[in-house]
Amino acid sequence: MQVSKRVILTFPASLAGTPVTYRLVKDYNLVMNILRAKVIPKDEGRLVLELSGEKKDIEAGLIFLKEKGVSIEALAKDIHLDEESCVHCGFCTAVCFQDALSMNPETWKLEFNREKCVLCEQCVDICPMGAIQIKF
Ligand code: SF4
Ligand code: SF4
Repeated sequence: MQVSKRVILTFPASLAGTPVTYRLVKDYNLVMNILRAKVIPKDEGRLVLELSGEKKDIEAGLIFLKEKGVSIEALAKDIHLDEESCVHCGFCTAVCFQDALSMNPETWKLEFNREKCVLCEQCVDICPMGAIQIKF
């Protein structure tokens, strides 16, 4: 069964420059969508990833990463759009560089594409109605 899982990976400095995540694709047949990355040469690195594939392959891939010394946390937060509070003003679309938030040109209603959201949180404070929240 194909599933998706969002995780935060923290790489120790000792793994800097080692192509560890590439093995997830090659050896475990996983599809990786990088949602956020912070990589400093010769320092600790952090990646927010969405992994898709067979459940057993995701589990095996995460075990492989753990054995390599990568710390793994499940991504526990998500963006919640309160459709009842939203007045479709479109302010939030101006700060969403992922185009996860957009106005439908026919209905002039806000649309949220969760697949594109990288949880940058730029939209949260800009909404005058408080319609966008981070859910943990
Ligand atoms: S800024 Fe708030 S009220 Fe305006 S479209 Fe975005 S979510 Fe809706
Ligand atoms: S959190 Fe960032 S990427 Fe996600 S909808 Fe808001 S502005 Fe767009």
